[in-house]
Amino acid sequence: MIQVRCRRCGEVVPASDINMDRLFAKCAACNVVFGFEGELAGEGGAQGRGGARRRRERPQAAQPRGLAIEDWGGELRITRRWFSPKFLFLVFFCIFWDGFLVFWYSTAFGFGAGNTPFGLVFIFFPLIHVAVGAGLTYYTICGFVNRTAIAVSSGSLAVRHGPLPWPGGRDLSTADLKQLYCQQRIRRGQRGSTWISYDLNALLSDGKKVKLVSGLDEPDMALYLEAKLEEHLGIEDRPVAGEFQG
Ligand SMILES: [Zn+2]
Repeated sequence: MIQVRCRRCGEVVPASDINMDRLFAKCAACNVVFGFEGELAGEGGAQGRGGARRRRERPQAAQPRGLAIEDWGGELRITRRWFSPKFLFLVFFCIFWDGFLVFWYSTAFGFGAGNTPFGLVFIFFPLIHVAVGAGLTYYTICGFVNRTAIAVSSGSLAVRHGPLPWPGGRDLSTADLKQLYCQQRIRRGQRGSTWISYDLNALLSDGKKVKLVSGLDEPDMALYLEAKLEEHLGIEDRPVAGEFQG
């Protein structure tokens, strides 16, 4: 029998949270997402290797689309295109949203809303919608042109988003990196809608948690980035099961 334990907290992952097609599991306790091919391979083969340390084997997962990887031995550079089909949907959403605001303001000003105190309500009331529209439109444009670059070289790990400015840049010393792990994030909207995204996080040696890349649509992308970076950094990706039980 195979039991999959969370690599972070050691909890047993229920079968319902295990994806057998894509071989990843999600811990209900801490939302950590991880691949478990190694555990499967280890079940049958560990004894045969004459007491060799059981080590999680690196899955040779297919490289997800939208990634470019340059590896020059000492330096690793991963570039991820932001674009995904959701941005096509967002284009239509922005046209609708922004178009409505243009209609609203042209109507309000057409009626001379700026001239009376009551009329000002029509100008100021939708300002929050204007802010949402501006933010969403900017994000959508970024979705078509932006890339995230993760560069590891001479003892530092840098994350940059661009060419259009976007927050979330990171500069870390690789010596401080203890472990990388992926986490699932669920946000619930007002009408029962849910957004699921995946973050790639780093656990630092002082116990701090740093988000490296956030908002990934697919667990495969997050897990692939984790495996690639850990491989390059020489961080042994190990299940924490045994360790946490002392
Ligand atoms: Zn957990």
